[in-house]
Amino acid sequence: MDQNRGIHSEDLTTTRANGLKRLSHPAGQLPSVDRLLRSNAGQTLVAAFGRAPVASVLAKQISLARKEILASGKPAVSEQHLLAASENELKQSSVALKTILNLTGTVLHTNLGRARLPDTAIQAIAQVASEPSNLEFDLATGSRGDRDAQLESLLKALTGAEAATVVNNNAAAVMLVLNTFALGKSVPVSRGELVEIGGSFRIPEIMMRSGCQLVEVGATNRTRISDFENAIDETTAMLMKVHTSNYEVQGFTESTSESALADLANQHNLPFMIDLGSGTLVNLTQYGLPREPTVQEALAQGATIVTFSGDKLLGGPQAGIIVGSRQFIKAIKQNPMKRALRVDKMTVAGLVEVLRLYQTPETLVQTLPTIRDLARPENEIKKLGETVLHALSTAETGEFDLTLVPVKSQIGSGALPIERIPSWAIAITAARSTSPNRTLMNLSEQLRACSNAIVGRIHDDQLLLDLRTLYNPDPLIAGLRHTLAS
Ligand SMILES: *Cc1c(COP(=O)(O)O)cnc(C)c1O
Repeated sequence: MDQNRGIHSEDLTTTRANGLKRLSHPAGQLPSVDRLLRSNAGQTLVAAFGRAPVASVLAKQISLARKEILASGKPAVSEQHLLAASENELKQSSVALKTILNLTGTVLHTNLGRARLPDTAIQAIAQVASEPSNLEFDLATGSRGDRDAQLESLLKALTGAEAATVVNNNAAAVMLVLNTFALGKSVPVSRGELVEIGGSFRIPEIMMRSGCQLVEVGATNRTRISDFENAIDETTAMLMKVHTSNYEVQGFTESTSESALADLANQHNLPFMIDLGSGTLVNLTQYGLPREPTVQEALAQGATIVTFSGDKLLGGPQAGIIVGSRQFIKAIKQNPMKRALRVDKMTVAGLVEVLRLYQTPETLVQTLPTIRDLARPENEIKKLGETVLHALSTAETGEFDLTLVPVKSQIGSGALPIERIPSWAIAITAARSTSPNRTLMNLSEQLRACSNAIVGRIHDDQLLLDLRTLYNPDPLIAGLRHTLAS
């Protein structure tokens, strides 16, 4: 049936452009939801988003228009406007996650999705997402295969570990190791390492939920190997060292070395785990970055198990990687919890591609976005800033002043909490405003509402947009142009 047949005769006199009507309605005469649904544009929306969601958004826009007309004395709102506003809202709310411009200066931002993946990983993920694969199927024998097989051989080759396995994230990795070796038993941990990583990951709570008993040893600032020696008894299941990712104790401090703990664990025939957190496979100083312990070093220091994240410094998809001695990894794989924490095929595909890049470490700066962003030369960032500033006229920046200022970026995700990387940011100030901070808060909100949401940070009455992870300036220029003068 022709959906337009029931429309009142006034429609026939309406100009039509792209199926949208230009009729204007004062408050009392706003169109009904039904009428908008029956229009050509309404039908297109229904086809794209479904009748119920479209109807509810149209109702909301009509009621907003009514309020606006009554409040501001605005004479009328057109059907075209109502339909366009509804389309905008439906489009905005239909994507699960919006992509944003991360100008916070924190490269691996946990709230903003951490690592950006290389193209090879993205292609591999798209491929396995759309087609069946040999995820757990051995093509040579035609029998069941091991989900971790390819990841394990790459991880063994790259780290020198005897064995490896992968789970959903590093929190899961720590939990699985504790649950495998220390269920119903105790684990001594230095008081200086009982950290909260962020959100809900706190070492004491994870230990409790993994079914093991935490035995606190030493003091917040100083823990000696004798503290561990004294704590070991028949209930002790393993030793553990946690990389204190996101904070640092300075001053009168002492901590036990990895190798001393490894020796002690060895004497008592216990597994020794190092939770590296970020864990990198390459020496970061070659990129002019501060030192961060590598997985290979942790193994060389005698750790029998090392856990680290897939999406922190490694630069891959979310995953928790466990490498170590054959017997311990075997026990971990046999824990029924492994099944509950296993990775998805898309993670396997993406992580394999990221690890493959590490087989040619000399090109990581070009091939792996995380390393590329972190190693990016300061002057390249500065140049990009100049491009952005030159593109904006003073009329376009309105009441705001924009300057290019040197700042410090952070790696994020807990790595290297103190040391920071020199970078450049666009600093926006509202010097002429009576409440500059309020004005900047409003501006931040508007920038976050842009179609390419722009996220920076406010510091010292400046809105700082750190350009370290930005390559194409156009969306930023467009967003600033759209927002500043309005
Ligand atoms: C980040 C971190 C974790 C948690 O890793 P996720 O991959 O975020 O689950 C655990 N331990 C340490 C030391 C960390 O830095």
